[in-house]
Amino acid sequence: MPRIILMGPPGAGKGTQGEILSDEWQVPRIAPGDIFRAEIKEGTELGVKVKSFSDSGRLVPDEVVIEVIESRLRQPDTQAGWILDGFPRTVAQAEALDNLLVEINQPYDSVINLDVPDQFLIDRLKARAIDQGRVDDTEEVITNRLEEYNAKTRPLLDFYADKVKQIDGTPSMPEVTEAIKDFLA
Ligand code: ADP
Repeated sequence: MPRIILMGPPGAGKGTQGEILSDEWQVPRIAPGDIFRAEIKEGTELGVKVKSFSDSGRLVPDEVVIEVIESRLRQPDTQAGWILDGFPRTVAQAEALDNLLVEINQPYDSVINLDVPDQFLIDRLKARAIDQGRVDDTEEVITNRLEEYNAKTRPLLDFYADKVKQIDGTPSMPEVTEAIKDFLA
C-alpha cells in the first residue's frame, strides 16, 4: 500500500515517474496540475478560477488547491495507496496535508525529490511544449514556474528535511524508475 509524495521542480519528471509507478502498483496518481488542466478544458467553475494562474506559471492559491486535494484523498480508491505528484508545493499545503493524513489515518511512506538542475529543466520543458502543446511551456511561463518553485516550493525540502530522499532525475526515464524502486524496496 504505497503512499508516496513525489517532489521536484517543474520538468523534473514527476509526472512520467508517477504514471509508471501508478500503473505498476495500481494506485491513483493525484496531480493537481492534471486536475486543473482537465477542469480548464471543460470550462468548469474551478477551471475558470485557476486558468490565469496555471497559464502564467503562477501557483494557484493554497486554499483552492488544498480543497481539491482534500476531497480527492477522501475518495475510496485511495485506500489502496496513492502517489501525490505536484502537491504539496508550499509549506501551507504541506501543513494541511499533514493534518489531513492524520485525520484519514493514511500516513505517507516516503517523500522523494527528483533532483534536476535548472538548465536541464528549461530544455526539457521547451521540448515538452513541442511534444504536448502545453500552453505553460513557453519561455516566459517557464521562467515564472521556476521562480515560483525556488521561492515557494524549494523551502519544502527543509520542511521534509529528515524524511526526503534525493534521487538524481537526470539519467534516462527507466534508470530513474529503477532508482526510485530500489530505494522503496
Ligand atoms: P509542472 O510540474 O510541470 O510545473 P504541473 O502539471 O504540476 O506542472 O502544474 C501546472 C500548474 O498547475 C502550475 O504551474 C500551477 O499553476 C498549478 N499547480 C499545480 N500544482 C499546484 C499546487 N500544489 N499549488 C498551486 N498550484 C499548483
